[in-house]
Amino acid sequence: MHETGIAAEILDIAEREAARRGAASIAAISIQVGDLSGVVAEALEFAFEALAAGTPAAGTRLNIQKIPVRARCPHCRSEVLPGHDLVLWCPDCGLPLDVIAGRELQVQSLELVEAQ
Ligand SMILES: [Zn+2]
Repeated sequence: MHETGIAAEILDIAEREAARRGAASIAAISIQVGDLSGVVAEALEFAFEALAAGTPAAGTRLNIQKIPVRARCPHCRSEVLPGHDLVLWCPDCGLPLDVIAGRELQVQSLELVEAQ
């Protein structure tokens, strides 16, 4: 399950940022997960909780914002919202579409608890 590795990386990024800013702890981590990122949000949530348990990050909330796939035709510039079948071809031109959203996998913001 590669979500465990990703959860560890997210936690690592957040902890380094919290340390850099001299925060006491991390209240919440907000991340963006695109539908094409290959990450299952529920699995990531589960992996994060399992990983954080028993560490100072145990109470940290993980807010996952799912980013739907958006694609645009390079020829007619029309934007297509692919359905679940993820056919990335322009229905008018038959050209492969450029994916402009949906590949995100990144930490967007942190909610830090300031040191006393
Ligand atoms: Zn087109």
